[in-house]
Amino acid sequence: STIVKSDLEIARESVIKPIVDVAAGIGLSPDDLELYGKYKAKISFDTLEKLKTKTEGKVILVTAISPTPAGEGKSTVTVGLADALNRVGKKTMVAMREPSLGPTMGIKGGATGGGYAQVLPMEDINLHFTGDLHAITTANNALAALIDNHLQQGNELRIDQRRIVWKRALDMNDRALRKVVIGLGGPVQGVPREDGFDITVASEIMAVLCLASDLQDLKKRLSRMVIAYNTDRQPVTVEDLGVEGALALLLRDAAKPNLVQTIEHTPALIHGGPFANIAHGCNSVIATRAASKLADFVVTEAGFGADLGAEKFLNIKTRAAGIAPAAVVIVATIRALKMHGGVPKKELAAENISALKKGFANLKKHTETIEQFGLPYVVAINRFIHDTEEETKTLLEMCKSESIPAAVTEVWEKGGEGGAELAGQVLKAIDDKKANFAPLYDLSDSIEEKIASIAFKVYGATTVDFSTKAKKQLAEFEHHGWGVLPVCMAKTQYSLSDDPQKLGRPEGFTITVRELKPSIGAGFIVALTGDVMTMPGLPKQPAALKMDIDEQGNASGLF
Ligand code: ADP
Repeated sequence: STIVKSDLEIARESVIKPIVDVAAGIGLSPDDLELYGKYKAKISFDTLEKLKTKTEGKVILVTAISPTPAGEGKSTVTVGLADALNRVGKKTMVAMREPSLGPTMGIKGGATGGGYAQVLPMEDINLHFTGDLHAITTANNALAALIDNHLQQGNELRIDQRRIVWKRALDMNDRALRKVVIGLGGPVQGVPREDGFDITVASEIMAVLCLASDLQDLKKRLSRMVIAYNTDRQPVTVEDLGVEGALALLLRDAAKPNLVQTIEHTPALIHGGPFANIAHGCNSVIATRAASKLADFVVTEAGFGADLGAEKFLNIKTRAAGIAPAAVVIVATIRALKMHGGVPKKELAAENISALKKGFANLKKHTETIEQFGLPYVVAINRFIHDTEEETKTLLEMCKSESIPAAVTEVWEKGGEGGAELAGQVLKAIDDKKANFAPLYDLSDSIEEKIASIAFKVYGATTVDFSTKAKKQLAEFEHHGWGVLPVCMAKTQYSLSDDPQKLGRPEGFTITVRELKPSIGAGFIVALTGDVMTMPGLPKQPAALKMDIDEQGNASGLF
């Protein structure tokens, strides 16, 4: 039987180049960089400013079918496709998100790709990297502390302490902190009130950092963030509190994109990491734009299925970044399609043609979604060693009969070499110049209409239900002038519906919007659907149980 090396083993055996050498390949000198050791660097603000005048390369967006809990290999395909494009002489960079410690310690693992399609240094990126997530957490919690101090010092802004919407944050899955009571212990210990924690990747500051175009824009966005309502029910902002300068200062280094490399030395910018289920799911605008100026092609990913990350990339990020993809890659795996066809997780290794045929409906829906945005796409079938010849043949035939362009990729096993066919098809899709991109809704639509557009066109729902609370909020938000913002849906990633149990392509379902949240700094309204939670919990067997460190300081158990 084949011995499969772990992602970490492959990463450790790979040759890594000094980052200054990788930077030289895209025309950056050591003066353009702020080094974090030998293999990681941030790009300076001066250099980012200079890049603004350069022409833009083409952006390729990688998305996926509705995933299984382990992920379907979007990061892997993103890295492998960029390596494959470089192999055929196309100057290509990767732009992706930074991992959160929540999933790293939990069930999903890190987010540096896998097999021979990974970014390095894998251990660093998956652990604390250059500290961006910690800086974001700190800025988030500095604001929380300043709000509570404002209450303690007399509450000049007349903040209604029962209507503070700013929560604390932590980059960990910690369900015990979802709802807390703070300020207990008497008059000198603060004002007692209910509070709660979100995971850092769901924090508005993460979204602000990812959607800001530069430092000044970052500061403006921070100042607009709504933290609470006052006793007249009017919104209170960071600007009212006067702390946007402090928050921007705490984010000064976090706002610069991080340059690293793939195993094949393709330069990669890894920057910002909002989840795609409870946030907007895309790496920073600063990184995607910088990569598009430094290379002719940028391969970037958006989280989870095309109903989440891609929908938000296309409806939210394109408007903030002024960038539209030239083509989209939809990653599908045979095991996940079998799961959508009714096979339980434990039996996914066994051949099952009929389940595959049934589960194909999920892939089909996601291709229709991308078509609605007017974008050309290629399905990347990310081959797993358990996939049988018959299954692969069946999937390719089904795609062909539906006129869905598809390519099998083996980038996990072979690196860029395994992505040659995908790269060829993506280049062809771009050359055909059929892209006619438009977001799915107009900003002038009401919040309700925007949510309905996404629910009907992207999810395939037949009705949208708003809770009493959400209905009240719809009216309030329109009244505050927020109706012109795009909507960031918070929804389970496992299903096209808001019920994680409904796999495949569910029909005739209702999307329930239970609550809305203003993210005015980020520039969107969050709509929470179903039971989705902004602070995840750890699973029964967290990945943390298998982690260790040896006497030389080498990690084990990261993946
Ligand atoms: P996503 O970005 O969709 O969440 P990742 O690219 O992070 O998925 O991959 C999730 C995990 O699956 C990683 O540990 C990776 O090594 C593994 N993986 C990806 N593709 C393959 C493959 N073709 N065969 C085996 N394992 C794979």
